[in-house]
Amino acid sequence: MIEIKGITKKYGEQYALNNINFTIREGEIVGLLGPNGAGKSTLMKILTCFIPPTSGDALILGHSILDDTLEIRRSIGYLPEHNPLYTEMYIREFLRFIAGIYNIPNAKQRVEEIIHITGLEPEANKKIAMLSKGYRQRVGLAQALIHEPKILILDEPTTGLDPNQIEEVRNLIRKVGKDRIVLLSTHIMQEVEAMCSRAIIIHHGNIVADESLDGIKPGQLTEQFHKLTL
Ligand code: ADP
Ligand code: MG
Repeated sequence: MIEIKGITKKYGEQYALNNINFTIREGEIVGLLGPNGAGKSTLMKILTCFIPPTSGDALILGHSILDDTLEIRRSIGYLPEHNPLYTEMYIREFLRFIAGIYNIPNAKQRVEEIIHITGLEPEANKKIAMLSKGYRQRVGLAQALIHEPKILILDEPTTGLDPNQIEEVRNLIRKVGKDRIVLLSTHIMQEVEAMCSRAIIIHHGNIVADESLDGIKPGQLTEQFHKLTL
Protein backbone atom coordinates (compact mmCIF):
# COMPACT_ATOMS: atom_id res chain seq x y z
CA MET A 1 0.00 0.00 0.00
CA ILE A 2 1.08 3.60 -0.64
CA GLU A 3 -0.45 6.11 1.78
CA ILE A 4 0.17 9.74 0.88
CA LYS A 5 -0.56 11.99 3.83
CA GLY A 6 -0.74 15.73 3.34
CA ILE A 7 2.27 16.14 1.08
CA THR A 8 3.16 19.72 0.24
CA LYS A 9 6.19 20.84 -1.76
CA LYS A 10 7.21 24.45 -2.16
CA TYR A 11 9.90 25.71 -4.50
CA GLY A 12 10.60 29.16 -3.11
CA GLU A 13 7.17 30.71 -2.81
CA GLN A 14 5.60 28.41 -5.42
CA TYR A 15 3.49 25.44 -4.35
CA ALA A 16 4.37 22.53 -6.67
CA LEU A 17 2.19 20.25 -4.50
CA ASN A 18 -0.52 21.49 -2.17
CA ASN A 19 -1.58 19.02 0.54
CA ILE A 20 -1.85 15.81 -1.51
CA ASN A 21 -3.69 12.87 0.06
CA PHE A 22 -4.49 9.50 -1.47
CA THR A 23 -3.97 5.79 -0.96
CA ILE A 24 -3.06 3.12 -3.51
CA ARG A 25 -3.75 -0.53 -2.75
CA GLU A 26 -2.23 -3.76 -4.02
CA GLY A 27 -3.27 -4.64 -7.55
CA GLU A 28 -4.05 -1.08 -8.67
CA ILE A 29 -2.56 0.52 -11.77
CA VAL A 30 -3.02 4.21 -11.12
CA GLY A 31 -2.57 6.90 -13.75
CA LEU A 32 -1.46 10.29 -12.47
CA LEU A 33 -2.79 12.56 -15.17
CA GLY A 34 -1.99 16.24 -15.54
CA PRO A 35 -0.68 18.89 -17.91
CA ASN A 36 2.96 20.00 -17.86
CA GLY A 37 3.88 21.64 -14.58
CA ALA A 38 1.03 19.97 -12.66
CA GLY A 39 3.39 18.43 -10.09
CA LYS A 40 3.53 14.80 -11.30
CA SER A 41 7.31 14.44 -11.37
CA THR A 42 7.69 16.28 -8.08
CA LEU A 43 5.33 13.82 -6.37
CA MET A 44 7.16 10.83 -7.86
CA LYS A 45 10.56 12.17 -6.78
CA ILE A 46 9.21 12.56 -3.24
CA LEU A 47 7.73 9.03 -3.15
CA THR A 48 11.05 7.58 -4.33
CA CYS A 49 13.01 9.59 -1.72
CA PHE A 50 14.97 11.66 -4.25
CA ILE A 51 13.69 14.93 -2.77
CA PRO A 52 12.02 15.61 0.58
CA PRO A 53 8.54 17.12 0.92
CA THR A 54 8.21 20.55 2.53
CA SER A 55 5.62 18.98 4.83
CA GLY A 56 3.56 15.81 5.05
CA ASP A 57 4.60 12.17 4.82
CA ALA A 58 4.01 9.04 2.78
CA LEU A 59 4.09 5.41 3.87
CA ILE A 60 5.35 2.93 1.30
CA LEU A 61 4.41 -0.58 2.42
CA GLY A 62 4.37 0.85 5.93
CA HIS A 63 7.73 2.64 5.71
CA SER A 64 7.95 6.42 6.01
CA ILE A 65 9.69 8.35 3.22
CA LEU A 66 11.06 10.60 5.95
CA ASP A 67 13.26 7.97 7.57
CA ASP A 68 13.22 4.62 5.74
CA THR A 69 14.92 5.68 2.51
CA LEU A 70 16.93 2.50 1.96
CA GLU A 71 14.02 0.16 2.61
CA ILE A 72 11.83 2.21 0.26
CA ARG A 73 14.41 2.25 -2.55
CA ARG A 74 14.48 -1.55 -2.31
CA SER A 75 10.72 -1.90 -2.66
CA ILE A 76 10.28 0.57 -5.54
CA GLY A 77 11.26 0.34 -9.18
CA TYR A 78 11.49 3.85 -10.63
CA LEU A 79 11.66 5.01 -14.21
CA PRO A 80 12.50 8.73 -14.06
CA GLU A 81 11.09 11.21 -16.55
CA HIS A 82 14.02 11.54 -18.92
CA ASN A 83 15.24 8.00 -18.28
CA PRO A 84 18.87 8.85 -17.68
CA LEU A 85 21.06 5.92 -18.72
CA TYR A 86 24.78 5.38 -19.04
CA THR A 87 24.78 5.50 -22.83
CA GLU A 88 28.42 4.43 -23.15
CA MET A 89 27.66 1.12 -21.42
CA TYR A 90 26.51 -2.07 -23.09
CA ILE A 91 23.05 -3.26 -22.02
CA ARG A 92 24.33 -6.27 -20.04
CA GLU A 93 27.13 -4.24 -18.48
CA PHE A 94 24.63 -1.58 -17.35
CA LEU A 95 22.14 -4.09 -15.94
CA ARG A 96 24.91 -5.97 -14.09
CA PHE A 97 26.03 -2.66 -12.64
CA ILE A 98 22.46 -1.98 -11.39
CA ALA A 99 22.18 -5.55 -10.06
CA GLY A 100 25.41 -4.89 -8.14
CA ILE A 101 23.94 -1.78 -6.53
CA TYR A 102 21.05 -3.87 -5.22
CA ASN A 103 23.33 -6.75 -4.20
CA ILE A 104 21.20 -9.18 -6.17
CA PRO A 105 22.25 -12.82 -5.75
CA ASN A 106 22.87 -14.70 -9.03
CA ALA A 107 23.11 -11.32 -10.78
CA LYS A 108 24.25 -12.81 -14.06
CA GLN A 109 21.21 -15.06 -14.30
CA ARG A 110 18.83 -12.32 -13.17
CA VAL A 111 20.17 -9.98 -15.87
CA GLU A 112 19.44 -12.61 -18.54
CA GLU A 113 15.97 -13.10 -17.07
CA ILE A 114 15.14 -9.40 -17.11
CA ILE A 115 16.49 -9.04 -20.66
CA HIS A 116 14.06 -11.77 -21.66
CA ILE A 117 11.10 -10.30 -19.73
CA THR A 118 11.57 -6.83 -21.22
CA GLY A 119 12.10 -8.13 -24.75
CA LEU A 120 15.63 -6.76 -25.05
CA GLU A 121 17.13 -9.90 -26.60
CA PRO A 122 17.36 -8.68 -30.21
CA GLU A 123 19.43 -5.67 -29.11
CA ALA A 124 21.13 -7.17 -26.06
CA ASN A 125 24.66 -6.94 -27.46
CA LYS A 126 24.50 -3.22 -28.18
CA LYS A 127 25.67 -0.13 -26.44
CA ILE A 128 22.79 1.88 -24.96
CA ALA A 129 23.80 4.83 -27.16
CA MET A 130 22.94 2.75 -30.27
CA LEU A 131 19.36 1.96 -29.20
CA SER A 132 16.08 3.47 -30.42
CA LYS A 133 14.03 5.42 -27.87
CA GLY A 134 11.65 2.46 -27.52
CA TYR A 135 14.50 0.10 -26.65
CA ARG A 136 15.98 2.66 -24.25
CA GLN A 137 12.64 2.67 -22.42
CA ARG A 138 12.86 -1.12 -22.21
CA VAL A 139 16.31 -0.78 -20.64
CA GLY A 140 14.81 1.77 -18.22
CA LEU A 141 12.07 -0.71 -17.34
CA ALA A 142 14.60 -3.54 -16.96
CA GLN A 143 16.59 -1.32 -14.58
CA ALA A 144 13.38 -0.57 -12.63
CA LEU A 145 12.39 -4.25 -12.40
CA ILE A 146 15.68 -6.02 -11.81
CA HIS A 147 15.31 -6.19 -8.01
CA GLU A 148 11.69 -7.44 -8.29
CA PRO A 149 10.10 -4.44 -6.56
CA LYS A 150 6.51 -4.62 -5.31
CA ILE A 151 5.90 -1.08 -6.53
CA LEU A 152 6.60 0.49 -9.91
CA ILE A 153 6.71 4.26 -10.36
CA LEU A 154 6.94 5.27 -14.00
CA ASP A 155 7.24 8.94 -14.97
CA GLU A 156 5.77 9.48 -18.47
CA PRO A 157 6.93 6.06 -19.69
CA THR A 158 5.71 6.50 -23.28
CA THR A 159 6.39 10.19 -23.91
CA GLY A 160 8.49 10.73 -27.02
CA LEU A 161 7.89 7.27 -28.48
CA ASP A 162 6.33 6.59 -31.88
CA PRO A 163 2.92 4.83 -32.05
CA ASN A 164 4.37 1.32 -32.44
CA GLN A 165 6.81 1.81 -29.61
CA ILE A 166 4.01 3.23 -27.44
CA GLU A 167 1.95 0.08 -27.98
CA GLU A 168 4.93 -2.17 -27.20
CA VAL A 169 5.86 -0.33 -24.03
CA ARG A 170 2.20 -0.27 -22.89
CA ASN A 171 1.96 -4.04 -23.38
CA LEU A 172 5.15 -4.50 -21.42
CA ILE A 173 3.86 -2.32 -18.55
CA ARG A 174 0.58 -4.28 -18.48
CA LYS A 175 2.56 -7.52 -18.35
CA VAL A 176 4.99 -6.52 -15.60
CA GLY A 177 2.30 -4.55 -13.74
CA LYS A 178 0.45 -7.70 -12.73
CA ASP A 179 0.81 -8.46 -9.00
CA ARG A 180 2.37 -5.07 -8.36
CA ILE A 181 1.32 -1.57 -7.45
CA VAL A 182 1.90 0.70 -10.45
CA LEU A 183 1.80 4.49 -10.40
CA LEU A 184 2.45 6.04 -13.79
CA SER A 185 2.24 9.64 -14.92
CA THR A 186 1.07 10.99 -18.23
CA HIS A 187 -0.36 14.11 -19.82
CA ILE A 188 -2.40 12.01 -22.25
CA MET A 189 -5.88 10.80 -21.34
CA GLN A 190 -5.79 7.81 -23.72
CA GLU A 191 -2.75 6.50 -21.87
CA VAL A 192 -4.77 6.23 -18.69
CA GLU A 193 -7.71 4.61 -20.47
CA ALA A 194 -5.38 2.09 -22.12
CA MET A 195 -3.54 0.95 -19.01
CA CYS A 196 -4.99 2.06 -15.70
CA SER A 197 -7.69 0.91 -13.30
CA ARG A 198 -7.89 4.36 -11.71
CA ALA A 199 -7.16 7.93 -12.75
CA ILE A 200 -6.05 10.73 -10.47
CA ILE A 201 -6.04 14.14 -12.11
CA ILE A 202 -3.57 16.67 -10.75
CA HIS A 203 -3.61 20.35 -11.68
CA HIS A 204 -1.43 23.15 -10.24
CA GLY A 205 -0.39 20.84 -7.40
CA ASN A 206 -3.95 19.91 -6.39
CA ILE A 207 -5.90 16.70 -6.92
CA VAL A 208 -9.02 17.62 -8.84
CA ALA A 209 -10.40 14.15 -9.66
CA ASP A 210 -9.86 10.60 -8.44
CA GLU A 211 -11.95 7.98 -10.19
CA SER A 212 -12.02 4.28 -10.79
CA LEU A 213 -12.13 3.59 -14.51
CA ASP A 214 -14.50 0.66 -14.16
CA GLY A 215 -17.94 1.89 -15.01
CA ILE A 216 -16.80 5.21 -16.42
CA LYS A 217 -18.05 5.71 -19.95
CA PRO A 218 -15.22 6.27 -22.40
CA GLY A 219 -14.89 9.96 -22.95
CA GLN A 220 -16.44 11.08 -19.68
CA LEU A 221 -13.14 11.56 -17.93
CA THR A 222 -11.60 12.95 -21.12
CA GLU A 223 -14.22 15.70 -21.11
CA GLN A 224 -13.49 16.50 -17.49
CA PHE A 225 -9.75 16.60 -18.17
CA HIS A 226 -10.22 18.82 -21.22
CA LYS A 227 -12.18 21.42 -19.27
CA LEU A 228 -9.31 21.67 -16.79
CA THR A 229 -6.57 22.11 -19.31
CA LEU A 230 -8.30 24.69 -21.51
P1 ADP B 1 5.01 17.81 -14.12
O1 ADP B 1 5.89 16.63 -13.94
O2 ADP B 1 3.57 17.54 -13.82
O3 ADP B 1 5.19 18.44 -15.47
P2 ADP B 1 6.75 19.05 -12.14
O4 ADP B 1 6.56 18.28 -10.90
O5 ADP B 1 7.96 18.79 -12.94
O6 ADP B 1 5.42 18.93 -13.04
O7 ADP B 1 6.73 20.59 -11.79
C1 ADP B 1 5.74 21.20 -10.97
C2 ADP B 1 6.05 22.68 -10.79
O8 ADP B 1 7.23 22.82 -9.98
C3 ADP B 1 6.36 23.41 -12.10
O9 ADP B 1 5.83 24.71 -12.02
C4 ADP B 1 7.87 23.43 -12.14
O10 ADP B 1 8.34 24.54 -12.87
C5 ADP B 1 8.24 23.54 -10.67
N1 ADP B 1 9.54 22.92 -10.38
C6 ADP B 1 9.85 21.61 -10.58
N2 ADP B 1 11.10 21.35 -10.16
C7 ADP B 1 11.60 22.54 -9.69
C8 ADP B 1 12.85 22.94 -9.11
N3 ADP B 1 13.84 22.06 -8.92
N4 ADP B 1 12.99 24.23 -8.76
C9 ADP B 1 11.99 25.12 -8.92
N5 ADP B 1 10.78 24.81 -9.45
C10 ADP B 1 10.58 23.54 -9.83
MG1 MG C 1 7.09 15.68 -15.24
